[in-house]
Amino acid sequence: MAVTSTYPDVMDKLVSLCKRRGFIFQSSEVYGGTGSVWDYGPLGVELKKNLKDRWWHAMVRARSDIEGLDAAILMHPRVWEASGHVSGFVDPLVDCRNCKKRFRADDPRIKGTPGTADAQCPACGMKGTLSEPRQFNLMFKTFMGPVEDTASVVYLRPETAQGIFVNFLNVQQSTRQKVPFGIAQIGKAFRNEITPGNFIFRTREFEQMEMQFFVDPESDHMAWFEFWKGHRMDWHRSLGLAPDRLQFHQHDPSELAHYARAAFDIQFDFGGGLGFQEIEGVHHRSDFDLSRHQEFSGKRLEYFDQPANRRYIPFVIETSVGADRTFLALLVNGYREETVPGEEEGRAVLGLHPSLAPIKAGVFPLVKKDGMPEFAERLANELRASFTVFYDESGAIGRRYRRQDEIGTPFCVTVDGQSTADNTVTVRDRDTLLQERIPASAVANFIRERVHP
Ligand code: ATP
Repeated sequence: MAVTSTYPDVMDKLVSLCKRRGFIFQSSEVYGGTGSVWDYGPLGVELKKNLKDRWWHAMVRARSDIEGLDAAILMHPRVWEASGHVSGFVDPLVDCRNCKKRFRADDPRIKGTPGTADAQCPACGMKGTLSEPRQFNLMFKTFMGPVEDTASVVYLRPETAQGIFVNFLNVQQSTRQKVPFGIAQIGKAFRNEITPGNFIFRTREFEQMEMQFFVDPESDHMAWFEFWKGHRMDWHRSLGLAPDRLQFHQHDPSELAHYARAAFDIQFDFGGGLGFQEIEGVHHRSDFDLSRHQEFSGKRLEYFDQPANRRYIPFVIETSVGADRTFLALLVNGYREETVPGEEEGRAVLGLHPSLAPIKAGVFPLVKKDGMPEFAERLANELRASFTVFYDESGAIGRRYRRQDEIGTPFCVTVDGQSTADNTVTVRDRDTLLQERIPASAVANFIRERVHP
């Protein structure tokens, strides 16, 4: 795909900021790291939780027609035969006999045809050492129970959707929902990607936020597809992702799965060499999944429409978004460097929407004397009942502000000499840099009104 990006590459800066400030660390770093697996640190876990909360609220709590679910990662192995993952979730792969490295067969760095004498390994440069392409399944395999044989093979789920399909009737019957309705879940998925990379863009362990919406095949199901397309794009915009960095990409017939009626990706412009890339898929999956599970399990998975006295397998409109990839989009979208009037040093800012910011307010005494630290600490403790707050009394005030700007804290509350006299404090806005003096007792409401989505 041609990269059409007007935005600079900020990935290296973000990787270092994420480590330095405790958003993201490499997994098992003390052992040299694990390939493309990442750990979320104290700030990262807050930002990711806020992101997932925003999704859960928009998709489950704010709607009467969607139910939540948390299905297990380990499922019956037949699930993955029915879903097509055992036979179809594969990438062609070649090995170098010399350096033992592996590549996707379509890796553009490979010169010549793999399996022939003229093919050259992109890593070690040897000729004739690349194997013929062979199919490599992206699912992680493990064993259930004490015996490690083929009968006990189970897979780590490569997507969360199948947990929803196999629970379709459990959820429908226990909640008495009527079609059209949806089931949503957030959970880990695992893919043994051959070419992972770009920080948390493509990893081997990641989190998905998926929703399957069940509709009557005889109804106007394409209208629902259009509805979810628009709804999901609006959601990404509501997170603060810049509208000109978001676009739809329609799958052409060659990209579509054979059962799919339509599919659109929502793409975000990551800038630099990555450009526009998928962060979410909106897919019309027809009745494929439920029909396959009905066939493979031998159990009926039909919906009974009582008023019409009709049984049918619903069509499914799926929305599937990666929590980690959207997290990265938020960082790339929000990061900026700028000069501040009156300061030479300049600042780096993470312009995160206040609802997503890991810390909502920094609370500082201007100086460490005259009762200011006690006042500020008391206020920080009060605010902590409702928000994530960071108390800091060390160093110059400008430096304390900059440390909060860099992690996206929308407000800094400063206690000064006047505070102890009249119970007022100043609140500094991360983006406008304006400082407002308000009563200390009004700070909680001030923040509350502004961190709401
Ligand atoms: P890609 O083409 O990038 O591999 P996909 O089309 O296989 O993605 P889906 O199966 O539609 O992706 O998954 C839905 C969403 O899950 C993606 O839009 C992405 O945000 C996220 N996702 C998929 N694979 C990964 C991965 N390896 N690492 C991080 N996020 C992922």
